[in-house]
Amino acid sequence: MIMKGKKGIIFGVANQRSIAWGIAQKLMEQGAEVAFSYMGDRLKGNLDKLLADKPGTKMYDCDCADESQIQRVADQYQADFGTCDFVVHAIAFADKSYLEGDFLPTPKHVFLQAMDVSAYTLVSITRSFRPFMNVGCSVLALTYLGSEKVVQNYNVMGVAKAALEACVRYLASDLGPHGIRVNAISAGPVNTLAARGISDFTNLLKIHRIVAPLRENTTPDHAGGAGLFLLSDLACGVTGEIMYVDGGYNTIAVGPLAAYDLSPEPKD
Ligand code: NAP
Repeated sequence: MIMKGKKGIIFGVANQRSIAWGIAQKLMEQGAEVAFSYMGDRLKGNLDKLLADKPGTKMYDCDCADESQIQRVADQYQADFGTCDFVVHAIAFADKSYLEGDFLPTPKHVFLQAMDVSAYTLVSITRSFRPFMNVGCSVLALTYLGSEKVVQNYNVMGVAKAALEACVRYLASDLGPHGIRVNAISAGPVNTLAARGISDFTNLLKIHRIVAPLRENTTPDHAGGAGLFLLSDLACGVTGEIMYVDGGYNTIAVGPLAAYDLSPEPKD
């Protein structure tokens, strides 16, 4: 029970397929007391069902695009729990009309909204919870390879994830001297609600299964195991890191030839 006596909050469980739910399950199995933040009544219903066997679990409604709502959740959390040992940031948003085709047409308001919800919220959530974080507290965000390499259709979300990863490093630098760690998991593609907004996502999953050394898709459970490690004292020496949980996909430059159409090119 490596999380016994630890308490914290998870932002971003939408349903049983959510990566954050994989992390939540591992934390609870290991004795952590977990509070949840959700956006809107629809998602509260999902959480109520997922947590039916954990009556009394604290849940807070929050649209993280609104900083005052983040502060309100932090205040409510502090009133309920006093202190905090972990925070999981598993939220992201971009207008799905721009998660297909070229990146070039992305309008400014779409760019700024993706940055705001997917990257800046890590800063505002961390700042609001900072006053009552215990020494040893661990903050975890979720990112994707599209931040550093081009993944077709990921577009503005890739730019937002690059910003998120930079935020992880700067926050880790600020908070490290106070014994607080900040890391991210870079997960392979997982078939979640958010991911379905990305055009051709099913093919991305297929390519991943062919190319990744482990020859399988990443699951919330995979991310959950790594999340448990990073949020626990086992990772007390780890901060500012982006940890890949993608079956090794990021290490491959040229994958199995079966992944490519190698039929002879037509002669002119
Ligand atoms: P998910 O289950 O759909 O979770 C995303 C959550 O973000 C949803 O609960 C969503 O609520 C919430 N959200 C969006 N805008 C919000 C806002 N303004 N305020 C509060 N919550 C908001 O999808 P997921 O794939 O597990 O995503 C979790 C994290 O993992 C994200 O950061 C995502 O980018 C990252 N990630 C995903 C993959 C993948 O392939 N799935 C891979 C690597 C990293 P609504 O449903 O109401 O929008």
